[in-house]
Amino acid sequence: MDKIPLSSVFLNDEISDACAAAIASGQYILGKECQAFEEELAAYTGTRHAVLSSSWTAAVMLLLQTMKLAPGDEVILPAHTAFPSVEPIIHVGATPVFVDVDDSYCMNPEQVSAAINLRTVGIMPVHLYGHPADMDAIQQLADRHGLWVIEDCAQSQGARHQHRVVGSLGTAGGFSFYPSKNLTVLGDGGCICTDDDRLAEGVRMLRNHGRKSKFTHEKVGYNLRFNEIQAAAGRVALRYLDQLNAHRRQVAAWYRERLAGLVTLPPERPWAEPVYHMFVIRTPNRDALADFLATRGIASGIHYPVANHQQPAITALYSDLPSLPNTEQLVDEILSLPIHGQMPLDEVEQVCDAIEAFLS
Ligand SMILES: *Cc1c(COP(=O)(O)O)cnc(C)c1O
Repeated sequence: MDKIPLSSVFLNDEISDACAAAIASGQYILGKECQAFEEELAAYTGTRHAVLSSSWTAAVMLLLQTMKLAPGDEVILPAHTAFPSVEPIIHVGATPVFVDVDDSYCMNPEQVSAAINLRTVGIMPVHLYGHPADMDAIQQLADRHGLWVIEDCAQSQGARHQHRVVGSLGTAGGFSFYPSKNLTVLGDGGCICTDDDRLAEGVRMLRNHGRKSKFTHEKVGYNLRFNEIQAAAGRVALRYLDQLNAHRRQVAAWYRERLAGLVTLPPERPWAEPVYHMFVIRTPNRDALADFLATRGIASGIHYPVANHQQPAITALYSDLPSLPNTEQLVDEILSLPIHGQMPLDEVEQVCDAIEAFLS
């Protein structure tokens, strides 16, 4: 075990007690806790609906299926993101179109504009590392061309764009509760948030065997449901989300103070109130720095070392892939430093001491 971990799951007695109560309730799938969690997620995000599913990947796949994407339809997304961002697009038969990111690590709207053509149906901005993408520019492009916008909020739960919570800005937002994410549920989980009644209803049906009522199946669906024990945990964690995110911002401020001038720090755009899912620096000797940190018991990560348009799964499927110089360069330079909602100042100091020692 590393002395200083990359991230840490939020746990307390309230969470344990809520799980124990859910266990005692005798109801385990899509019951009262799930319904309350959905209502609280929608209220927090500022959308009419939140619909839980077993992961971000599942929820967004059901969403895209509800939106009836057809083969040949193109969806524009950044090449620099977690690989799952791409998967639901391909699973519903559409084609991912990769564009480059700018120095905020989010998709470059000029590149999006250049990639739009008659086959384009939607745009999937990713609020990577907890920093909101340039949603005004992206939404303007979507409006001009009649496209939908699905926000990938898996790393940005609680982040704000011009004071609005992400996931409420586009047609829908997808969230993940995977253990490293800002809001967690003691396992896998995810949801979509949307104001669109039809989309919410479609995902609700498909996640539960296409059921409209107990014995009426309107669609051929799946079992991609959510469960009561995890919803009980998530409801407690959601009440702490803003506090944990505020602490992440504090940790980022501590890093900035110590590391300014030593490494390239992540920018904050004027519209952004980021939630620092990751604190990602850039430095030319990235691999040597990671090794040096490891010798001091400090974990670090690379999110992500291979650009998605260069992944074997993608190059096997498509031949006309673009070259994306920013993405291709930054995957060799980025390093994620330890950060989480309860990281103490002295651990931040130890990480910074180690980086200083490495660079001198
Ligand atoms: C984690 C993550 C996902 C996938 O979430 P799951 O809940 O694991 O399916 C998608 N996009 C981004 C940007 C992520 O970080």
